[in-house]
Amino acid sequence: MPLLDTDAEHDPNKILPIEYDWAREYYVAGVANNWTPEEIPMGDDVTQWRGDALTDAERQLVEWNLGFFSTAESLTANNLVLAVYDHVTAPECRQYLLRQAYEEAIHTDTFIYCCDSLGFEPEYLYGMYDRIPSIAEKDEFVVDMTRVVDSPDFSIQTDEDVLDFLRDLVGFYVVMEGIFFYAGFAMMLGLKRRNRMVGIGQQFEYILRDESLHVGFGVELIDGIRVEHPDAWTDAFEREVIDLLTEAVELEKIYAREACPEDVLGMSSEQFCEYVEHVADRRLRQLGLPTQYGTDNPFPWMTEQVDLNKEKNFFETQVTEYQSGGRLDW
Ligand code: MN
Ligand code: FE
Repeated sequence: MPLLDTDAEHDPNKILPIEYDWAREYYVAGVANNWTPEEIPMGDDVTQWRGDALTDAERQLVEWNLGFFSTAESLTANNLVLAVYDHVTAPECRQYLLRQAYEEAIHTDTFIYCCDSLGFEPEYLYGMYDRIPSIAEKDEFVVDMTRVVDSPDFSIQTDEDVLDFLRDLVGFYVVMEGIFFYAGFAMMLGLKRRNRMVGIGQQFEYILRDESLHVGFGVELIDGIRVEHPDAWTDAFEREVIDLLTEAVELEKIYAREACPEDVLGMSSEQFCEYVEHVADRRLRQLGLPTQYGTDNPFPWMTEQVDLNKEKNFFETQVTEYQSGGRLDW
């Protein structure tokens, strides 16, 4: 069965035999990462938050990121269930989408848990996407990229429909989960390594680990659709994707500068901007597109400890497994 079934007669019931082993591997990797926010104690965070352990600038980083992620996670979950699931008909991919949807529910729950533990008024935290222009603009940017697919009349018949769908996948997997989450990841993990809000920091580490898989799956899916619809992916679309990613980088930099107007624990907004460029180049490389920045990673600890190594290790492991012929044979 193809990844996108343009034929109304498709049968999405049978999962075996599996055609797309990579989808199965992402599912298994996702299950192996299982966690829930309640496993992480928040006592130290509550003490720091209620006391005077944090500077105003540190508090702002926490608020901005809780504000952005609390609603971005459910936006992502909605796109997954209401748009992506409908059109990706290969059953092993749908199986992964179900797993991812569960992880998005865990992430959404994490911010409920944080909001509760720290004693935020829900309207305050969950209203930030409305109040803070740089958060609103990120949300609107991905929603705009996915508007066509969201229409109830949308179905995939022509190459143009395939491109509309690919734009949706680029919007959520590459821009939202792959770029818009990353200034926030660096900010929260930067606080954690200096012993600020370590419980929330650990939750962000778990989310980052999940998101690395989401981005990886999304890129594989985009590649797979590209192979199955070779005439759909045009040079003009390639330019469009590069433009969308560079626009997204500019929005993420505005967010970083607003969230971090002054240096915090030796980290500056300029470094967060460099980090975003560095991550965007990686996304372009993953998509087989030319890199645009050539910016060094200003936070080597992100690579060493948590982020790109995890992505890299996962891909290296996958390659090794393919080469060793140790794949499960269905
Ligand atoms: Mn998520
Ligand atoms: Fe995700």
